[in-house]
Amino acid sequence: MSATPTRHDCIIVGAGIVGLAHALAAARRGRRVLVLDRDAAANGASIRNFGFVTVTGQEAGTVWQLARRSAAIWAEVAPLAGIPIVQRGLLLAAHRPEAEAVLDAFAETEMGRDCHRLPADELARDWPMLVPPRAALWSPHDLRVESAEAIPRLAGWLAAAHGVTFQYGTAVHAVAQGRIETNHGTLFADQIIVCPGDDWSTLFPDLYAEAGITRCKLQMLRLAAPAWRLPSPVMGDLSMVRYLGYAALPQAAALRARLEGEPAAAAALADGIHLIAVQSADGSLVVGDSHHYAPTPDPFASDAIDARILAAYAELLGAPPRVQARWTGTYASAAGHSIVRSPAPDVRLVVVTSGTGASTSFALAEHVLTELMGETA
Ligand SMILES: Cc1cc2nc3c(=O)[nH]c(=O)nc-3n(C[C@H](O)[C@H](O)[C@H](O)COP(=O)(O)OP(=O)(O)OC[C@H]3O[C@@H](n4cnc5c(N)ncnc54)[C@H](O)[C@@H]3O)c2cc1C
Repeated sequence: MSATPTRHDCIIVGAGIVGLAHALAAARRGRRVLVLDRDAAANGASIRNFGFVTVTGQEAGTVWQLARRSAAIWAEVAPLAGIPIVQRGLLLAAHRPEAEAVLDAFAETEMGRDCHRLPADELARDWPMLVPPRAALWSPHDLRVESAEAIPRLAGWLAAAHGVTFQYGTAVHAVAQGRIETNHGTLFADQIIVCPGDDWSTLFPDLYAEAGITRCKLQMLRLAAPAWRLPSPVMGDLSMVRYLGYAALPQAAALRARLEGEPAAAAALADGIHLIAVQSADGSLVVGDSHHYAPTPDPFASDAIDARILAAYAELLGAPPRVQARWTGTYASAAGHSIVRSPAPDVRLVVVTSGTGASTSFALAEHVLTELMGETA
């Protein structure tokens, strides 16, 4: 007689931030959760990113609201999970008059309500490391964690505090209503949430294709600790034509035209480069990034692209310190923030397709669980 197979309330495929966010939302609803990941530890986009939970600059409307709610969840969960919030806020520094106009227009929107222009004396006092900008807007909403530490700590806390079980080294090769096939055998669950990031070769490749999902490849750098400390993460003019919260404003068109007319800025734009600089606890800086789109991007980091990222850094922060590390990452990319599909009644495929998973997954997961559990929103 064969033993009755264990049936789980909820199985989640993928232990990146999207999977962990769903594990939290399910566990908070009293579900017994099992998380499966094919790797020995999360090793995808979720540990390669800036760990920058960006609110200000996200697309107006739903995405901005998802980011605000997710930042609140990060702020609540991080201390419980022993995750240091390494930096808070965001400084948006404008060096061109057209960028200042974007900044002013943004400050007038609902999203700019709690942001404020830094007076020149405050800027000079607290931000002496900046190449002096014409203007700067400070946002209080954003925060930063060190992803390579935060993701394992989040998983550890989910296990310890919420009884979530993790099974790494488990490749899932088929999912159907109530049933998962893995390299370690068949598992059964009432609900299954599939969060495989940009791996569409195994599960639901047709749904990825239908949604027009491709991959975005990014180059990132870690620079040696300078003599100063950044009061918060910082972005510059190039970010104002990339992040939709700014780029969708009418004033951004003049900034784009100006940047396209400058050879160095135009070369940066051609590589999808904008500049984010964040600082880690040891003082080193994480700086990036570039964006190139292809279903199978090559795995090579280009020195020329790194040089353009460092040139964008120099425009914002002066001569860059020594490069300590370089890496590439990829994420699933398509038009729109994310896809949530229902390949079977109690199965969901959830993919963040906008490179904002660290910033929006916690809130997205709450929406998915609300719908899946038949709760009133
Ligand atoms: C360089 C870089 C910088 C970024 N910066 C930011 C940022 O500052 N702020 C921000 O909000 N976002 C940022 N992003 C985007 C963000 O990192 C992603 O949106 C997010 O990490 C996606 O999370 P995920 O869980 O879907 O994917 P992943 O982290 O890739 O996790 C997917 C997991 O699923 C597992 N898996 C896949 N298929 C299977 C299978 N068949 N069986 C078992 N396991 C499977 C994989 O092993 C993997 O662990 C950045 C991304 C990159 C690459």
